[in-house]
Amino acid sequence: MAGRNQDSGRIAALRRALLEWYTQRRRDLPWRRTSDPYAIWISEIMLQQTRVAAVVERHREFLARFPTLASLARADEQEVLALWSGLGYYRRARMLHQAAQFVAEHCNGNLPATAEELRTLPGIGPYTAAAIASIAHGECAAVVDGNVERVLCRLESWEAASGRAAGALRRRIEAAAARLIDCARPGDWNQAMMELGATVCVPRNPHCPVCPISAACKTRGEHRTLPRPPMQRREIAHALVVRRSKRAGKSGAGAQEVLLEQRPAELTVMPGLWELPALRQAGVPAPELRMTVRHAIMQVNYTVRVCDLREDDVEGMTIHGGKRRWVPVGEAARMALTGLARKVLGRAGMLPVAPPAAAGGQRRPHIPEP
Ligand code: SF4
Repeated sequence: MAGRNQDSGRIAALRRALLEWYTQRRRDLPWRRTSDPYAIWISEIMLQQTRVAAVVERHREFLARFPTLASLARADEQEVLALWSGLGYYRRARMLHQAAQFVAEHCNGNLPATAEELRTLPGIGPYTAAAIASIAHGECAAVVDGNVERVLCRLESWEAASGRAAGALRRRIEAAAARLIDCARPGDWNQAMMELGATVCVPRNPHCPVCPISAACKTRGEHRTLPRPPMQRREIAHALVVRRSKRAGKSGAGAQEVLLEQRPAELTVMPGLWELPALRQAGVPAPELRMTVRHAIMQVNYTVRVCDLREDDVEGMTIHGGKRRWVPVGEAARMALTGLARKVLGRAGMLPVAPPAAAGGQRRPHIPEP
C-alpha cells in the first residue's frame, strides 16, 4: 500500500512539474493557437521527421491554399505534392490527400473525433490519432513518438533495445505513457512530453540541470542509447539540360526551359515526382561538370554530380527512367519536384532557394505509421 501511495505521489508531482514548465516555456507555434482538428492534423503529419522551424512557414502556406478538409479533398494530387515539395517523405502527403478524400466521401466531410476512429484513416496510426484526439478533443489518449519514448526510457532507466526485445520495451513504454498522462489536460500533457524531448531531454547531452522532472528521473543523463546505424555513401549523376523555348515570349525571345523526367507511378520511393534525368555514370565528361551537391535521403548520403548537357546528347548519355517534358523554368517552381531537383535548380539560379526542411536541426523522430 505504501509503495502504491509513493508511486501515485511521484506521478502527481511529475505531472504538476511538467505541466507548469510547459505552460511557462512552451514555444509559440501556429498549431498551438488553434483547436481546429484539420489544422492540427496537418501540423502533426508535417512534423514527422521535419524540423519545427521548417514546418511553421509550410503549414501556413498549406492552410492558405487548402483552408479546409473539403478543399484538400478536391485538389489534384500533383498540386498537393508540389506544395509538399522540399518537405520530403512524400508518402505523408499522398496519404493525407487520400484520407481527406475518404473523409469527404464517407464521413460527411467531418474528421472523426476519437483516436479509435481516426486510426481507420489512411496514414493515421496510433501516434497521429492520439495527438489529434487529445489536442483537438481532449481525449485521454497518450502519444508515444520518438521523443516521448526517449524521455520515458531515461525516466525509468530502461535500456534501449533491438530485435525481439524492442517489442517488449515498446509495450512497457506505451503502458507507462498511458499511466502517466494527465487526463485533466491530455492535449497539453502530450505536447509537454514531446516538447521536453525536443528541447531539454535531447538525444545527445540532455539538459538535466534545467529539466522540470529531474527529481523523478532515474538516470539524469546517465543513460545508454543504441548507437545510430552508420550513414551509407553513394555517388550519382544527373543532367541539367536547358534550352530556349521555340515559342517566342512577349519580348520576342523564347523562355528558358529545363528537361524534367517523371518518376514512374509504380516506384515505392517518390513515385510521380519530377526530377532531372539521370546520367550514365561512365558518360560524364569532366568539362561539363556544373556543380556537386550533397543530399541526404533516409540513411544515405548522396554525392550528386550535376552536368550541363546539350539537347543533342540527352538520348545517348542519360538513362530513360520515365516520361520526359520540357518545362518553362517559371512553371517548374510550381511542380511536384523531388527535393534534389529543387535544390539543384535553386543552386543553378532557376528557382528560389528554399531552406532545408528534412535535414539537420532538431527533428521530431517519428515511429512509422501505416
Ligand atoms: Fe531527460 Fe535529464 Fe530530464 Fe532525465 S533529468 S528526463 S535524462 S533531461
